[in-house]
Amino acid sequence: MRLDDTHDPALRSWVESAHEPGCNFPIQNLALGIFKRKGQKEPARGGVAIGDQILDLAALGVRTGPTLNSLAAMGRQAARKLRRELSRALSVKTRHKKRLQKHLVPMKQAELFLPVAIGDYSDFFTGIHHATNMGRMLRPDNPLLPNYKWLPIGYHGRGSSIVISGAAVRRPRGQLKPPDAPAPVYAASKRLDYEVELGFIAGTGNALGRPIAVGDALEHVFGAVLLNDWSARDMQAWEYQPLGPFLAKSFATTISPWIVTMDALEPYRCAAFARAADDPQPLPYLLDEDDQREGGLAIEVEMHLRTPKMKAPVRLSRGNFRDSYWTLAQIVAHQTSNGCNLQPGDLLGSGTISGASADSLGSLMELSLAGKNPLQLANGETRSFLEDGDEVIERGRCVREGYATIGFGEASGRIMPAGAK
Ligand code: CA
Repeated sequence: MRLDDTHDPALRSWVESAHEPGCNFPIQNLALGIFKRKGQKEPARGGVAIGDQILDLAALGVRTGPTLNSLAAMGRQAARKLRRELSRALSVKTRHKKRLQKHLVPMKQAELFLPVAIGDYSDFFTGIHHATNMGRMLRPDNPLLPNYKWLPIGYHGRGSSIVISGAAVRRPRGQLKPPDAPAPVYAASKRLDYEVELGFIAGTGNALGRPIAVGDALEHVFGAVLLNDWSARDMQAWEYQPLGPFLAKSFATTISPWIVTMDALEPYRCAAFARAADDPQPLPYLLDEDDQREGGLAIEVEMHLRTPKMKAPVRLSRGNFRDSYWTLAQIVAHQTSNGCNLQPGDLLGSGTISGASADSLGSLMELSLAGKNPLQLANGETRSFLEDGDEVIERGRCVREGYATIGFGEASGRIMPAGAK
């Protein structure tokens, strides 16, 4: 763990709302995003979340342009320096409050954008409980395939359809083939689902042909966002063999607007997943002593649902990324192990974060046992999969005794009916 003054839980900000109970963005967080004021003719630019306000990075002379890619490209050391400057500027001890105040914009008056231009997106499958649950529905006797404990399974996703929290998601159409039907039809998905995930944003990249060593991997990550990997299970079931997910996933992926930087996450590092005694040891290119000791990240993730009949959302699950079978460093090392290059702003999805308990399952597929056991909601409604008008809201936070609690904000999306054929 690399802790400094910016992680001190006693730090206070002159922005009062940063101290409200349950606030996602205390001064120990300093999450970065891209914003502009609603209804104003002005360029989108970088800002830092503090309480219910955004401080324009221009206040510190930092001009990002409409994405944070160039900042991400500058690497961990530059991110750390900016973090220290922001911490000082937002502290009650600053002598520049009057000048800085002019650069504050209330979040309510701001429009938020994708924080980075995402060139490439890969999605992994690091949640062993999720992988086992999904596998059990397909292969009851042999839920985990033999490669699972040897390498972080992943597939290449689609960058162009990644949307920011709040954007509506249209129910996709595609080929569906119920097991008893003689032939597929092209129709709106009836089994639309979400997947509770985290997304990790690449910082400095690597040259083509030069893998990133597992021990250096976290130096190549800028930060984390919430990620909902919308999934059409009926399309997926028909198309996924033999090449993996394709159109069942690429119609939309929602991420949260605020990047919680790797330095903000330092206090919440934990040991890597404890492998069973008879599990294989990771191969040398995936094994690093420090990573095993503190390469895990304790990040709680929750999914909430608001149907059109509900006033307030209800929580469907709460899981924790500390249950991930593979660490973030291992997925970065694996992604680049063949020489594939990461570029600043690339997105790596964790895979669905499910825990061992029934209230920690990160998809409706798992919660409803593939629709066999519909979820009973407190207001009397039931759900096997998402219906039109349903809104799902992912939230995340890091909690550790002796440290500030920091949050990720939200990644939300509401389902719109399928469009015209
Ligand atoms: Ca996924």
